[in-house]
Amino acid sequence: MAIATLLPATTAFIQRAPRMLIGAEWVEAADGQTMPLHNPATGEQLCVVPRATVEDVDRAVLAARQAFDDSPWSRTRPRERQNLLWKLADLMQRDAELLAQLECLNNGKSAAVAQAMDVQLAIDFLRYMAGWATKIEGSSVEVSVPLMPDQQFHSFIRREAVGVVGAIVAWNFPLLLACWKLGPALATGCTMVLKPADETPLTALKLAELVQEAGYPDGVFNVVTGTGITAGAALTHNPRVDKLTFTGSTAVGKEIGKIAMDNMTRVTLELGGKSPTIVMADADLGSAAAGAASAIFFNQGQVCCAGSRLYVQRKHFDNVVADIAGIANAMKLGSGLDASVDMGPLISARQQERVWRYIEMGRDSGATLACGGERFGPGYFVKPTVIVDVDQQHSLVQEEIFGPVLVAIPFDDEADALRMANDSPYGLGASIWSNDLAAVHRMIPRIKSGSVWVNCHSALDPALPFGGYKMSGVGREMGYAAIEHYTELKSVLIKL
Ligand code: NAD
Repeated sequence: MAIATLLPATTAFIQRAPRMLIGAEWVEAADGQTMPLHNPATGEQLCVVPRATVEDVDRAVLAARQAFDDSPWSRTRPRERQNLLWKLADLMQRDAELLAQLECLNNGKSAAVAQAMDVQLAIDFLRYMAGWATKIEGSSVEVSVPLMPDQQFHSFIRREAVGVVGAIVAWNFPLLLACWKLGPALATGCTMVLKPADETPLTALKLAELVQEAGYPDGVFNVVTGTGITAGAALTHNPRVDKLTFTGSTAVGKEIGKIAMDNMTRVTLELGGKSPTIVMADADLGSAAAGAASAIFFNQGQVCCAGSRLYVQRKHFDNVVADIAGIANAMKLGSGLDASVDMGPLISARQQERVWRYIEMGRDSGATLACGGERFGPGYFVKPTVIVDVDQQHSLVQEEIFGPVLVAIPFDDEADALRMANDSPYGLGASIWSNDLAAVHRMIPRIKSGSVWVNCHSALDPALPFGGYKMSGVGREMGYAAIEHYTELKSVLIKL
């Protein structure tokens, strides 16, 4: 059993009670209030961070506004933006272990996995976005109608940075979600105020240090730590924000979307999911079972596109469920600092309680637990759980649980699988496990979700847009689609 030793830099970062970055200054909240952070593996307090007030958020937005409107940043050339993003990515690479340890202590996830996945994906994404900085193009258009007889015109379309971005993110991938927003913002020349999740601001604060070290002008990136209800709401309502980008629950996303419309603030929403994993009879069943287990249990099931609904063609249903239950039963739960651990704790006592309520609901309604259905502490642990004998309309199947709980239902044929897969308010991701190319290609266009994976699940690439159909959101992260969401089009017409 290899327990990771904390780097002195990790301990020092936590012990010094990190502050927020507004403009050039690392500050406490205006009223001096703080909020505690906890280690989900032990329930113990880690440190406190500032609890930003409305005034703090307004100051951060003003700093971002000034940096966008009137600072050297507003005149940076694409090559400079590219080089700065590479520099930032290099600094993150240098501090990858520290970032991963902070993520582990603050979120509960495995430090080793955080380093290989969360941190590395964030670095790769920033480098990918650095490439776009020099490739953002407008276009020239030939005037299509005789606007004025005998007059010549030249017209073109500019693509310009959208301006000040207000970013609000969830706690499940704190650094990665922040970088999905920061990357296109910095590539296009925007400025940003980031409000990390209440529970997990540590890597965002470390990221802000690295942004400063990379040489970005003051005010380009600001981080306010605090609650959604105060700091998040203040950012959402602020009319100086040009674009809001939100990752979190559908309930909060809907509110943010409505408020954004009051100011006509551009908005992208990355929301909840209840993604289906569909195992066809012809699939390699061993890989499908292992893949389905990882689709739901990775990151303790706290993944927006987790494969939380399993549909298996009837004749193999029992075998596949038994295989997944076997994998679940063999999983070792514990601290994310222990590299031999397969699953860490949930983020909070509140989340543990929420997941537990769903498991109880399943038991009470006569569903069968194929494995799991236990919780324990200290820390916020729930054993990986597979539930069968549930109806498609059950809350367990229709609602996002956001924990290590899989519901499994058999299907008879392709049409049956598609009907149940699409019978959900959400539409974030879906996986099909099959070697029948014709069937797979028939199904892909009929699945109502932003991503479809075949013989894999939750595989994300910086070049592929990621986002949701239906209640899973509006807009896309990653790929060139992200650049489009951080820019405005301006049409120019010149009479010659
Ligand atoms: P949440 O909606 O409770 O909180 C998300 C963020 O919004 C936090 O920073 C929070 O402080 C802030 N917030 C809360 N209330 C607010 C308000 N009234 N105004 C402004 N901001 C407010 O979600 P959560 O529990 O932190 O995260 C889990 C959810 O996030 C799940 O539904 C999950 O599916 C979703 N998620 C989606 C994606 C995606 O890319 N689609 C990725 C990760 C997580």
